[in-house]
Amino acid sequence: MVLTAQEFDVVIIGGGPAGYAAALRGGLAGLNIAVVEKDKVGGTCLHRGCIPAKEFLETATVYRTVIGAEEFGIIADPPVIEFAQSQARKQKVVDQLWTGLQGLMKKRKVTTFNGVGSLGAGHKVTVDDGTELVGKHVILASGSIPRTIPGFEVDGRLVLTSDEVLDLERLPASAVVIGGGAIGCEFASMLSDLGCKVTVLEALPKILPGCDKDVADVVARSFKKRGIEVRTGVAVTGHAPSDDGSSTTVSFGEGESVTVEAVVVSVGRRPCSANLGLDGTAVEVDGRGFVVVDEYMRTAEPGVFAAGDLVDTPALAHVGFAEAVVVIDQILGDKVIPVDYTKVPWCIYCHPEVAFAGLSEEAAREAGFDVVTKKDPFGGNGRALIVGEPEGMVKVIAEKLPDGKAGRILGVHMVGPWVTEQLGQGYLAVNWEATPTEVGQYIQPHPTLSETFGETVLALTGRGLHVG
Ligand code: FAD
Repeated sequence: MVLTAQEFDVVIIGGGPAGYAAALRGGLAGLNIAVVEKDKVGGTCLHRGCIPAKEFLETATVYRTVIGAEEFGIIADPPVIEFAQSQARKQKVVDQLWTGLQGLMKKRKVTTFNGVGSLGAGHKVTVDDGTELVGKHVILASGSIPRTIPGFEVDGRLVLTSDEVLDLERLPASAVVIGGGAIGCEFASMLSDLGCKVTVLEALPKILPGCDKDVADVVARSFKKRGIEVRTGVAVTGHAPSDDGSSTTVSFGEGESVTVEAVVVSVGRRPCSANLGLDGTAVEVDGRGFVVVDEYMRTAEPGVFAAGDLVDTPALAHVGFAEAVVVIDQILGDKVIPVDYTKVPWCIYCHPEVAFAGLSEEAAREAGFDVVTKKDPFGGNGRALIVGEPEGMVKVIAEKLPDGKAGRILGVHMVGPWVTEQLGQGYLAVNWEATPTEVGQYIQPHPTLSETFGETVLALTGRGLHVG
């Protein structure tokens, strides 16, 4: 019996945010879609990334809040962490979202194939169980996996990546986090708040590279106050486990070392392109493993697109969503606006939180802009004092006009309480290239944390109520 390949409008390899967003949007528009996923739909984001990591950060927040309750006159016994219960709650949140996603995909009539998919000539995708699919269009969305460093072989016990940290059965008493980027700082913050002694080792001169310096400085000060040791400008050179295997000594810098129960390697992620086949296609993969695309997410093979962490754009779930929309709308023949990567929103959920869109002051100056900036600390915000979180600030960067006044807003940078939920207004301002005068017209409800953004913008017009 000769089996013929099953035909679809679109075959997607990878069911993470980029893949499932394309499937959901395409399915809603009536396209006949297949998703090939080797593990679970939802991808890194749902099972090993955004959702479980933020759930644990929330556990840390609850613990911190209970410890700080006395300030509010609430006297409770010293809190105790039952980590197995924290793990179970995390898994419950993940599973609930996973069930919802699978249901939604079914509702949109997306056919899911479980297995490793590889692309060959003629838009043919072969699943490793031998199933053959042909798509009028193919979307490569196989995502990324944690990067590791030589000498730090991941064993899931002493040396962990984000995958293993999120599945820990007990918390280490001490840890080194290698890498002070977004994910490294989230883990450092979470582990420290839950009682672990944390050292962050970062090779670059500051943590949170890419963030505005004023913002990164607030996080660094907060970390120091909470006992997190941050060492920047140091390279790790190796580690030596103890004889009983209960700890390891990490060497770094000029002959320095620290002994800890766990090492969290958080040095970025690498694209998962090696298992995609691609023989007989014109799809190009660059030296770092990224699939090469143009601004419309088109590979060099006509009708084959790529999106998400597999391409060299910001490795964020919502960027994957946006790229999926670019692809599907193109397939549908709709008007398509490519993603403007210079303006995408970034949120980092460490304590204090960080959120920004657009250029940092350093990046704006490097790009040749003459700028005016204003900062307003949360210390003067009523709501911030009410919730007991006065740490942090909002900084707005605007283009300097020839008369010295502030022109279009180039960047909005926030650090402090719930800023990940406050960035929306800043993101709109940056994307609409609005001016402080325009944004300053908006009334901020009182008392809210967002008044600090309103004040900063008003200050740029020279008419701040509280900020000069
Ligand atoms: P993935 O989510 O990696 O999904 C790819 C899928 O493809 C996987 O399910 C994989 O099993 C499957 N696959 C791979 N190869 C094949 C194949 N050949 N055949 C079939 N299936 C295949 N982003 C944010 O925006 N906000 C955050 O707060 C955030 N926090 C994060 C925290 C952590 C700890 C980590 C690790 C990441 C975080 N990210 C965050 C990044 C985010 O998770 C990724 O950007 C996002 O998951 C990328 O989506 P994707 O669809 O491109 O790839």
